[in-house]
Amino acid sequence: MKYDNENIFAKILKDEIPCDKVFEDEHVLSFKDINPQAKLHILIIPKKKFIDIADFLENADEEYQSSFWSSVNKIIIKLELRDKGFQIKAHKGKDGGQEVFHFHLHLLSNS
Ligand code: AMP
Repeated sequence: MKYDNENIFAKILKDEIPCDKVFEDEHVLSFKDINPQAKLHILIIPKKKFIDIADFLENADEEYQSSFWSSVNKIIIKLELRDKGFQIKAHKGKDGGQEVFHFHLHLLSNS
C-alpha cells in the first residue's frame, strides 16, 4: 500500500480542511476527534507521512520516533492526564479498524 497524499489527515496537515487543534509542535499535530468515544478523545498524528503504526515503527528513524513520543508526553502533561489516567490506541489496517491511512494515535480519557 502506498501513502495517499489526499487522505483526510494529510489534508488537515496541508491546512486544506480545518481541525479543532489541541497541540502542535514541529513533529506532531493533535486535534479533537470529530466522533468522540470518550469525554476527551483526541488524535495525535506525526507531521511526516506514515501509513500506520507498523510503517512508523519500521521506517521512522530513531530520532523521529523519539521526538514523536516526547511530543505525546507533552500532550499528556498539557492536558493534565499524567496522574488522572488515559487510554492510547492505534488501529492498524482495515482488519484493525483503521479508516484513515495516516498513522495516528487515539488518546482518550473520561477524567
Ligand atoms: P481510525 O479508525 O483509527 O482510522 O480512526 C479515524 C478517526 O478519525 C475516527 O475516530 C474519526 O472519527 C476521526 N476523524 C475522521 N475525520 C476527522 C476529521 N476531519 N477531524 C477529526 N477527526 C476525524
